[in-house]
Amino acid sequence: MHDHRRLGRELDLFDTDPRSGAGLPYWLPDGAIVRHALEEYVREVEREAGYRHVHSPVLGKRELYEISGHWDHYSDDMFPPMDLGGGGDGDSGSEQLVLRPSLCPHHALIYRSRSHSYRELPFRMAELGGMYRAELSGVLGGLTRVRAIHLNDAHIFCTLDQAVDEARAALQLIARAYADLGIRAVRHRLSLPSEGGGEGAGGGKYVADPELWRRATALLREVLDASGIPYEAAEGEAAFYGPKIDVQIADPAGRESTLSTVQIDFHQPERFDLHYIGPDGAKHRPVMVHRSIIGSVERAVAHLIEQHGGAFPVWLAPVQLVVLPVSDAQTEQAERLLHRALDQGLRAELAGPEHGTLGARVRAARLVPYQAVIGEREAAAEAEGELVAVRLRDGRKPGAVPAAELVTRIAARAAARGPELWDGRDAR
Ligand SMILES: [Zn+2]
Repeated sequence: MHDHRRLGRELDLFDTDPRSGAGLPYWLPDGAIVRHALEEYVREVEREAGYRHVHSPVLGKRELYEISGHWDHYSDDMFPPMDLGGGGDGDSGSEQLVLRPSLCPHHALIYRSRSHSYRELPFRMAELGGMYRAELSGVLGGLTRVRAIHLNDAHIFCTLDQAVDEARAALQLIARAYADLGIRAVRHRLSLPSEGGGEGAGGGKYVADPELWRRATALLREVLDASGIPYEAAEGEAAFYGPKIDVQIADPAGRESTLSTVQIDFHQPERFDLHYIGPDGAKHRPVMVHRSIIGSVERAVAHLIEQHGGAFPVWLAPVQLVVLPVSDAQTEQAERLLHRALDQGLRAELAGPEHGTLGARVRAARLVPYQAVIGEREAAAEAEGELVAVRLRDGRKPGAVPAAELVTRIAARAAARGPELWDGRDAR
């Protein structure tokens, strides 16, 4: 059974230091490659799906979170405000800044900053941004419970008529990403407030507005039913401002957690007084659909590490090709292959005889998808086009292949983002 914390340290992906604090892991170069590849993937998929990316700061004035309702309903999970002293805006009170607990308030402000016609809707606003959660140190561990979170977030500002279709499309986007990443959803959950929590209980964990909860819940049920997705309702798991659809995953020990979410929100558009100009020339209130495809980058990478046991698919692998000259006599040809691969945008390394015997170097590179061995035989065939002996991570040996062909094949595999390393029939 794979534990991402152990593998993360062994494979030099990430680590923590008590001097920087619990729940605040840092990413080593190989880990940063994996997360950046994942982030690039998400942005690409979002661009194709009509999202527009924005960027907003990781902290804001306390007032912003008072408007959003976080201050009243979510402050237990927030870091205490930073008091800067002095009147920030010329008023008598001191200025307080808060590490943000979510991206929604900034996105509502960005929407609000320009006027919008119904013709521009849906406006799909996305950001991979930082947010913070004041978890107690006892529950922190690895990448799954952290205090600094990088969230793959988006908010779709749309008309009421568009909300169900937008939420459905978000669920489809999640399903597509799971297929590309090899992630399996164990179940879908409709997360509702605790008994009575949304029914006028007031204050506390949830916004008190029974009509709001009823409408949003009905729409989410419609989304799930129209998508043909079986689900279970769970009380006490809703966001403070509304119900949500949670896509649940499980770790190798069977422990469940939420990776992706889709929400339909009537609350924040009210609080931020958002509107669009309708065909009648009058102001109307948009609906906000909150959605996250892969959830936090931290949790997603933790899951991928455990899922693949560190043997990432080609497109996520920190090193995609290792070049292994048998002796110093083949160094020149090995360097030519290395540069050919680097020029094609591949992540390639050369491990020469100074790194030990060929067997030891092959073992050291056991998680690298492709190993290109260049011995006397391959070097002698130089005149026929620079042959290399290819070994795959899974033990298959497709044999001697021209260097140019190998590089083209790997680049094609990386671009396709599939799990397959080689055309099955070609490998022996
Ligand atoms: Zn949100």
